[in-house]
Amino acid sequence: MAKSIEQTIKQCRHCSKKTVHHRASSKTGLIMFLVHIVLTIVTAGVWLVLLLIWMLLNTKIGGWSCQECGK
Ligand SMILES: [Zn+2]
Repeated sequence: MAKSIEQTIKQCRHCSKKTVHHRASSKTGLIMFLVHIVLTIVTAGVWLVLLLIWMLLNTKIGGWSCQECGK
């Protein structure tokens, strides 16, 4: 999977203003999206639960960081 940097404008808790936030993300793409749908159907929804848990964990690890203060 290709690594990329995602960027967005978010309200920073440390700067108390809207700043550019960035995080590393792995592009999943349309094929992975279709794979997830197929696996969700095949596993009767179990895959979706696992995917949601994985996404939650991934968000905690690769969270957004402010470009101004680095937090
Ligand atoms: Zn900040």
